[in-house]
Amino acid sequence: MNSAPALAKEKLINLLDYDREGLTAFFAGLGEKAFRATQLMKWVYQEGVTDFNLMTNFSKPLRAYLQEHCHITTPQIVLEKAASDGVRKWVLETSCGNRIETVFIPEESRGTLCVSSQVGCALACTFCSTAQQGFNRNLTTAEIIGQVKVAQDRLGQSAKITNVVMMGMGEPLLNFDNVVAAMHLMMDDFAYGLSKRRVTISTSGVVPAMYRLTQVCDVSLAVSLHAVTNELRDQLVPINKKYPLAELMEACRENAKLAPRRTITFEYVMLNGINDSLEDAHGLINLLRTVPSKLNLIPFNPFPNSPYTCASNNRINQFKTLLNKAGIVTTVRKTRGEDIDAACGQLVGQVADKSRRHLKIKPASVDYAA
Ligand code: SAH
Repeated sequence: MNSAPALAKEKLINLLDYDREGLTAFFAGLGEKAFRATQLMKWVYQEGVTDFNLMTNFSKPLRAYLQEHCHITTPQIVLEKAASDGVRKWVLETSCGNRIETVFIPEESRGTLCVSSQVGCALACTFCSTAQQGFNRNLTTAEIIGQVKVAQDRLGQSAKITNVVMMGMGEPLLNFDNVVAAMHLMMDDFAYGLSKRRVTISTSGVVPAMYRLTQVCDVSLAVSLHAVTNELRDQLVPINKKYPLAELMEACRENAKLAPRRTITFEYVMLNGINDSLEDAHGLINLLRTVPSKLNLIPFNPFPNSPYTCASNNRINQFKTLLNKAGIVTTVRKTRGEDIDAACGQLVGQVADKSRRHLKIKPASVDYAA
């Protein structure tokens, strides 16, 4: 057996790894004009064409070169599930066999895709199930934008992705370059063309990377706050020990200066008896008054062996009323996709139905749980 082709394949360039700037440089290296980059992006992201031979506005020698040296590969679907509320979840496998999850949340006026940035997570937030599996590796740009491509291809005409939130597995700001390149593609008119208001990066508060982001990529920012004192936040979101609240809020203020009327969305998971006292609500009011902000209260989603329970509905509504009265626009995140483990903090990249693990997915073997 000749193993040369397999080895060679490793050396092929996955063109999904490049944003427009990267593709322009790549084509320049081949002596090709800059517009090749946008032509390729249109084929791949808008026409759904990944076979270089079908890219008819490329010269024959260019097609042959790409065929030999490049490929366009997304992670593979190993499981697809649809929840009773219309949420869809894909478990995807990367070429190294890692598993990640992507979730589509349809609403009346929009369709939001929740995208993962890492395999696992290093940050050890105590209420998050992704944290329990530890950190494995950063996703490549191809694997991040590939989630959007897989989801849009599977949704087809039935639904459109209008918003992307980097709120899946992982801490996106700890995979800075790859996440930024993928977000550029989400917003590029020759790829998915989403407006910067519809692409959101969520961070647990990696302060230096927040400043860097402010300089290089103008997307909407969400911050996982979850506590209003350093004492409690140190426990729930341990990266707070490195970047405490005062520094975090300063970085948020800086980001908010990017545009007039820009607001930062703060996420606050409601944990019974932990961070849901009325004192916490007043602490939130005081803290959020210092930044142009919106607040998103997230009912805690339990997972096996989780040490917490969700705050009562009464308490969540009380928080909402108090905060709104204080002038801070506050919403409660609807828990969606719970019956397929697709809710916030439930993404672990595992195939829940292990009996189907052997299946290489084809449309015929898609598992609709609903
Ligand atoms: N690491 C990034 C991206 C994850 S976003 C961040 O921390 O922002 C996922 C959101 O869901 C975060 O706000 C996270 O804190 C929250 N979350 C995690 N586990 C949860 C759970 N079990 N129930 C509700 N929300 C959870």
